[in-house]
Amino acid sequence: MPFEDAKLLEQLRALLGQGGSAHDLSELLDELQPYDLSIIIEELEQEEQLRLLEAMPPVIAAETLEHFEPIEQYRFLDHLPAETKSEILNQMSSDAVVQLFTAIHPRQMDRLYKYLSKPYQEQIRNQMSYPENSAGSLANVDYIAAQCWWTAQQALAHVRKVGERAEIYNYIYVLSSWGELAGVLSLRELILAAPDTRLDEIMNSKVIAVPADMDQEEAARVIAQYDFVALPVVSSTGRMVGVITVDDVLDIIEEEATEDIQLLGGSQPLDTPYLQSGIFGLFRKRIVWLMLLFLAGTITSTILRFYEDTLTQAVALAFFIPLLIGTGGNAGAQTSTTVIRAVAVGDVNVKDFLIVIWREIRLGLILGLAMAAIGLGWSLAQNNDLLVGLIVSTTIVAVVTFSSTIGAVMPIIGKKLGLDPAVFSAPMITTLVDALGLIIYFQIARIFLPL
Ligand code: ATP
Ligand code: MG
Repeated sequence: MPFEDAKLLEQLRALLGQGGSAHDLSELLDELQPYDLSIIIEELEQEEQLRLLEAMPPVIAAETLEHFEPIEQYRFLDHLPAETKSEILNQMSSDAVVQLFTAIHPRQMDRLYKYLSKPYQEQIRNQMSYPENSAGSLANVDYIAAQCWWTAQQALAHVRKVGERAEIYNYIYVLSSWGELAGVLSLRELILAAPDTRLDEIMNSKVIAVPADMDQEEAARVIAQYDFVALPVVSSTGRMVGVITVDDVLDIIEEEATEDIQLLGGSQPLDTPYLQSGIFGLFRKRIVWLMLLFLAGTITSTILRFYEDTLTQAVALAFFIPLLIGTGGNAGAQTSTTVIRAVAVGDVNVKDFLIVIWREIRLGLILGLAMAAIGLGWSLAQNNDLLVGLIVSTTIVAVVTFSSTIGAVMPIIGKKLGLDPAVFSAPMITTLVDALGLIIYFQIARIFLPL
C-alpha cells in the first residue's frame, strides 16, 4: 500500500538525512502509530529504514517490526547495530519472536538468538517446543500472574510493577502454591476488591483455558465463543504457558480465511504472501488441482461420444449443452460455497446431513422450476420445437436440483472424512456436475424422443 501523506514522508526524509534534528524527529514519530510507521518504512531506502528504526524507542520499533513478514523482520534486524538489535528483539512479544524464528533458517535464528536476554531465551525455547500452529506456539508469555495467597493490595502493587510490560493487563491469572493455574480475576474485580482479601477468596476458579497442543484455529474459536479479550493456554500438567489475545485471533482468522478462499478457488493454499511467491511456487500450488480438474473434464467428451446416436437424432440438442452444463455448475458452486462456509464456522455439522439434503432438494426444485419456465420460452423462441423445449426445461429442473444437492453434500462428506471441506471447491463441484448434467440431459432426451 503506498503511503498517501507525501508531505509527511518528505519531512521525515529530511529529518533522517544529514543534520536532521533528533528532537524534531522523535516528536514526529510520537504522533505515528506502529502500523503507520510500518507503511512509511516500506517507502524508504534501506539506509533510511535502518536509521528510522534506530531513532525509534525500542518498544515502538518492536511493534512496528511485528507488522512485517518474518523474512523482512530478519533483514532489518540483521542490518541493525548489535545494541539496537538486542533492544528491539527483547521488546518483541514472544509469539512474534517464535514466528520469526520458525520462519527463518536455523543458522539465521542462531545469529539472533544470542541477542535475547537469558530468561527470554528460555521462554522462547520452551514455546518453540510446541508444534507449529498450536495454541502453545502462539501463546504470549507477557501476562500478569499472581500467587493465590497474595492480598488484593499486593496483587495491585504487582500489576503496577509489571503492567507496563504485559501484553494483556485486563486479567490477572492466579497461580496455586504448586504453580498451577487456579483462578482468574479481571482488573476491575481486583480494583474493586477490599485491599486485604486474599486472591483465592475472590478469584473465579472455573477458568476457561485452552490446552497448549490445541490447533490454533480451534483455540481462536474458543476465544470468540467466550468473548474474553484473552484466554490462558495451559500445558498438560496444568501449568500456564501464556495467553492468546483477541488480536492473535484476528490474525488466525485472517490466515485461515485466506487458506479457505484459495482452496475455494481451486488452488492449494500459498505458504507465502502472493507477491512474495515465485512463479514456480504458484505453478506448483495451482497445477495439481488444475490438472486433476482437466483430466476429470475429459470425461465429458467420453460421455458425449457415448450419446452420439441421440445427438444425431436431434442435433438441436447440441446448442443447449453449454447452457445446461453451465447452469448446473453455477447452482452447484452456489450451494457448495454456502455450505463450505457454514461448515467452517460450525453452523452445519455432519449430523445435519439429511436436513441439508432435504433443504437443497426442495430449494433446487423451486429454483429449477423458475428457470425452466424461462428456459422453455427461450428455447421455443430459438427453434420453435416443443419437444426440444420440453427436454431442455425438464433437464433444467433435474440438473439444478441435482447439482444443488451434490454441492451441499460433498463438503459435509469431506468434513466427515476429516478433509478440509473447502477442498470440495466450486471448480471441483462444477467439473463433477458437468459430467452428471450431460448424462441427465441425454437420458431425459432418450425418454422424450421417439425411437
Ligand atoms: P470489563 O468488562 O469492564 O473489562 P469485567 O470484570 O467485566 O471488566 P470481563 O473481561 O468482561 O471483565 O470478564 C468477565 C468475567 O470473566 C470476569 O469475572 C473475569 O474474571 C472472568 N474471566 C476472565 N477470563 C476468564 C477465563 N479465562 N475463564 C473464566 N473466567 C474468566
Ligand atoms: Mg465485562
